[in-house]
Amino acid sequence: MKKLVVAIDGPAGAGKSTVAQIAAKKLGFTYIDTGAMYRAVAWKTLQQKKEITDELIVEVVKDIKVRLQYADGATKVFVDDYEVTGEIRTPEINAIVSQVAALGPVREKMVAQQREMAENDSVLMDGRDIATNVLPNADVKIFLTASIEERARRRFKEMQEKGFSVEFEKLKADIAARDKADSEREISPLVQAEDAELLDTSDMSIDEVVQAILDRCK
Ligand code: C5P
Repeated sequence: MKKLVVAIDGPAGAGKSTVAQIAAKKLGFTYIDTGAMYRAVAWKTLQQKKEITDELIVEVVKDIKVRLQYADGATKVFVDDYEVTGEIRTPEINAIVSQVAALGPVREKMVAQQREMAENDSVLMDGRDIATNVLPNADVKIFLTASIEERARRRFKEMQEKGFSVEFEKLKADIAARDKADSEREISPLVQAEDAELLDTSDMSIDEVVQAILDRCK
């Protein structure tokens, strides 16, 4: 079978990783969660227990080793061979990850690794700049979004299930702030690629979104 490359971009909380993970499993593709890679850099930066500055982040990314392991429909994330899968989705990481991801040296290293991962296998990669920058020749390009209310509701539920006490309005404001930072940054901002198809998932179930992705991969 021909190697197929699927790129899914969209704002925070659009459900990208949930549906992409399931769709990749059904397709037998490797799923690459690029957001997890920027989160991993943010995680190691927080570990330094220093004031978070661009200089510190650039220093951290110099010799970080980030590894994604996708098996049985789930992704494990490692930093320098230490598993951080559960530790990278916290309010503390959310608060600094856009700053981390806006920096040139961080993006250069992560994007090079992402392209390498997509070289040999059929992949489904999600993020913010996959269709526009990382894999501009992707066979299928989808821009996944949902209303800010719905995205905040989904994240709120996810955070509650994980035991974090979060306030809905604060969470919504944080998501909006992250989208703004991601959309307005200089390098590879979050934007719908001209040739990407818009999929608004506000009123769609997870199964429906997965099916919509599978249909486009036929
Ligand atoms: O997708 P997720 O919410 O885990 O991404 C975390 C952050 O990583 C985003 O808010 C964005 O700042 C950054 N990111 C990025 N480019 C990507 C994927 C994620 O800048 N391709």
